[in-house]
Order: sequence, then structure tokens, then C-alpha cells
Amino acid sequence: MGDKFKILAADKLAQAGIDFVQSQPDAELISKPGLSEDELAAIVGEHDGLIVRSGVTVTAKVLANPGKLKAIARAGVGVDNIDLQAATEHGILVMNSAEASTLTTAEHAFALMMALARHIGPAYKTMTEGGWDRSKFQGTQLAGKTLGVVGFGRIGRTVAERALAFEMGVVAYDPFFNKDTAMDGRVKMYKQFEKLLPHADILTFHVPLNDQTRGMLGSKTFPICRPGVMVVNASRGGVVDEQAVLEAVETGQCGGAALDVFTTEPLDADSALRRHPKVLVTPHLGASTAEAQRAVSIDAAAGLLAYLRGDGIQGAVNAGGLRMDLNPVQSKFVELAQRMGCLISPMMTEGISQVTFELRGKTLQPAAGTIERMSLVGLLRCHLDVPLNIVNVRHIAEQRGITTRTITSEEDKLEGPQLSIEIEAGDGSKHKIVGRVYHDMQPRVVEINGYRMDMVPTGVMLLIFNQDMPGMVGLVGAELGEAKVNIADMAISRQDNTALMVLKLDDPLPESALNRLNHRPGILKVTVVELPKTR
Ligand code: NAD
Repeated sequence: MGDKFKILAADKLAQAGIDFVQSQPDAELISKPGLSEDELAAIVGEHDGLIVRSGVTVTAKVLANPGKLKAIARAGVGVDNIDLQAATEHGILVMNSAEASTLTTAEHAFALMMALARHIGPAYKTMTEGGWDRSKFQGTQLAGKTLGVVGFGRIGRTVAERALAFEMGVVAYDPFFNKDTAMDGRVKMYKQFEKLLPHADILTFHVPLNDQTRGMLGSKTFPICRPGVMVVNASRGGVVDEQAVLEAVETGQCGGAALDVFTTEPLDADSALRRHPKVLVTPHLGASTAEAQRAVSIDAAAGLLAYLRGDGIQGAVNAGGLRMDLNPVQSKFVELAQRMGCLISPMMTEGISQVTFELRGKTLQPAAGTIERMSLVGLLRCHLDVPLNIVNVRHIAEQRGITTRTITSEEDKLEGPQLSIEIEAGDGSKHKIVGRVYHDMQPRVVEINGYRMDMVPTGVMLLIFNQDMPGMVGLVGAELGEAKVNIADMAISRQDNTALMVLKLDDPLPESALNRLNHRPGILKVTVVELPKTR
């Protein structure tokens, strides 16, 4: 079969991943671990997808001539070995397989918590040194204690389930989990981190590292915790401030800390964290099990093939804000967004300096990033020569100095959710298009530049701005009739003394007819676009 997806494994994949690809009738795996940068660059473009672990480095040079390469899957989490910017510039999706290591990492966090509670680390160390000290290592029973889970995502929830089975009380904090309780009421959710802290005997962190989470447990927040609180961090280094941990274990405010991740990895050989008896350290072992390695290699291959087959995107790394798990209304708005962008784009002959997206309605908020990207694809595709897609569009817009802004509001009581795109063109002129999706689930344009209408943008669409005077409809009808082009639908809207006609045509309009129309008296501007047919 000549049309199989060609997948290049540039690192040694776990056998399970190799078996998985080979079992797919539409895919072929080419295993070439250990290639040099030049060797990889020479062949990468002959493949549809690339799978790597942490061995090979996918540099800008490797991606300089990407050929038919559409996606890179990292079997694992970290993508430091992939030049994300270069991939994004070429519209290549980079995906990781974080999900596959959830259980394994949760188990490691749990192991750390148990080891802390029973002083396994220092007790073992004493034994290896010939000691036998039972009283020094009296521990803490977990049953009956309260675990504070910070970050209630995949790993946080998995840890919480296990803690409940251990008869622990569980409280959690996650600002993006908008409920009072979770897990059938067995986990109390706090709306503020500081409010959770006084309730936990042990804290475990499962958050991403960002400006909100960096140092979230530090010298300011330790004093709010229960005295002697135990701390586990198997998320990202820096979420728990390392210096503050050292100070808190000294004062006793922290009863012990177990860290799998560090601000700088590998951890400095002379770091005080390595030597403090109340600090237990492991070298980033969270995802390090044979089971997880197998699972990540299958996940990477499955995610890559799903994307190549057009079945959706899982674990995208270089498409921030992109969501594919959308509900039907959100998906319709994503489709509408691109249609709206396309419809209005021929008016931007002077370029675009700023685009403002206004999303009204709570339903649309989770899909904001995806809607924004697809509007931009629609707006820019006909103006740019570079291949443009959902992965690279934001980057390309930024590169061209086009600023974007998104305003969201929850209010959708009157007309339901609504998307407005306001564009400031290069010549300072402003344009606006507004769209909605009603119960019939058809994407509709309800306003263009202040002209109100109700039109499903599909097929060949002709926009005619004209002076509002008698005979204009007849003139346009005659011109199209002469060109033997049938009008399928038409909307007319007036404003001051000008009007906008939006026509849906059965066939494309010949260039000559478009030129003639453009020069007719009373016609101010004519644009035409061909959109995909709605389903
Ligand atoms: P996830 O995305 O499923 O969950 C993260 C959760 O954190 C989300 O629910 C999110 O809403 C929440 N969150 C975001 N900002 C927050 C904030 N300011 N305060 C509280 N919660 C916040 O991710 P996951 O798969 O559960 O992974 C969690 C962390 O574990 C990640 O940082 C990941 O990199 C790390 N991880 C570490 C290892 C390891 O080897 N130690 C392995 C896998 C994952």
C-alpha cells in the first residue's frame, strides 16, 4: 500500500509502541534510532509523523525542510529536546503523552507520602550505617489524617482516590475546578489556597509550573499551614520554594518534605536538600516505571495517528489554548469563526493591524483559544502565502505584528452565544462581523460592518456595498444573469444611505463579471469568497 502513514521512530521505542503501529493497517513504522542531526534532517520530510523520546534532539535544522512531516509525538512528558518554535513556524504539531504517566506518578507521590510519614528514608540510612534506632523514627499513621491536594487534575485526583482508600480525609484546591465538593462529596474543595492550608496535615502538589504556582508554598504561606505539616512535591520544581522548605523543616513548621522535582535538575551535588534528615529526595522518578514507558509509547503512536487521520488532537504542546474536546455548540462556533474570518477577509486589502474577538456566553469560554485561532486562519489564509493552520496561525500573526485581543463575557441570556470579530485594518479602517448559532445549529452571520442580516455563510458568497438607491438589486440581478450565475439566497441591509447585499451564488462568478460589477455606477465595493459547503 503506497498511501500508508509513514512514522519515523528516531529513538528506541518500547516494543509495545512498535507493535501498536505495526498492527495498524494504515501505518508503517520506520525505526531509526541514533541518527545524527544531518542524517535526521535529510530524511525527516519523507515521513508523516515523528516519534521521539528524550534521546534525539529535534532542532530547527532538522525541521528546516519539513517535507510532509505534520506532527511530532514525544513518548513522555518533557519536550525540551524539540525546537517548539521551529515546529510551530512550519505548522507541525508537537504532542506529548502526559496522560499515560498519571497512575505511575500518583503512585510515586503516594510512596513519598508514606515514606515521609514513616521516616523510611532516614531509618534505612541509619540501618545501612549499622544503627538500630526505633524511638527516633516513630511515625505518623495516615488513616484519620487530612491530605490537602493542590491541583485537582489527573494526578491530583488519582492521589485523592488512593488517600480515600487509606481512610484519610481529603481536601483540595484547584481554581479551575468550580465545585464545592468532588468524588461524591468525599473531597471538600477550597476556593482559595490560603483557606485550604490550615486544614491539611499533609500537602501534595500536582499543578503545572507557572507564574501563579511558582513558590506557592513559600515563606508567606508556610506559616498558615498546620504546624508540622508534611509536604510532597512530585509536580514541577519550584512550585514549593526550596529555601522556604529548608527554613520550615528547621523551625518545625514543616514536619518533613519529600521532593521528586527541583528548580534545577539534576539537583546540585552539594544542595542542602540532599543532606537534611527531614527532606526526602528522589531524582525525578515520578513517571519512571516500565508500565508507564510502555503506555507512553503506545499513547504517543496512537495520538500521532489520530491526528494524521484527522480524528482530533491529544496532548498538543505547541497549540496553547487549543481544545478539541468541544461540545456541539462550541464546535459549530469554531466552524463559524473560520467562515466569518474568510467572509470578511477580502475587505482587508490594506493589511490587518489588530483583531479583537468578543465571545459572549459562558458556553464559548472554554473554546475561546480554538475559536480565536480558527477566525485568524479564515482571516489570513487568503492573504498569506505560507501554509497556515491551527498550529502556526497565532505565531504567524504575531510575527507579522498583528495583535489579537479576546474579550469574553458570560451574558448570553437574550440571543444566546455570539462571536464578534472586529478588525482594525492597516489603513486604520474598522470592520466588524458578528455571528451566532441558533437551535438549528447552522452557523449564521448576523451583522457585517453595522449592516444587520441573517445569512448562513456557505459556498460562493458575494458581498456588494452600494449606494442605497433604486435599481441596484435589478442591476446586480441583470449582471449575474448575463454571467449565467444563479442566486441561491440574498440578504439586503441598509444603513444611512448605503446598503450591503450579501448573495449566495450557485456557481463561482467569472472574473469579467466581477470587474463589470465593480465599475457599475452606485456600486462601492464588491468582494467574493468561496467557502466550503455547510453540512
Ligand atoms: P493536569 O493538567 O491534569 O492537572 C493540573 C491541575 O492543576 C489542573 O486541574 C489545573 O486546573 C490545576 N491548576 C492550575 N493552576 C493552578 C493553581 N494556581 N492552583 C491550583 N491548581 C492549579 O496535570 P497532571 O497530569 O495531573 O500533572 C500535574 C503535574 O505533575 C504537572 O506539573 C506535570 O508536569 C507533573 N508531572 C510530574 C511527573 C514526575 O515525573 N514527577 C510526571 C508526570 C507529571
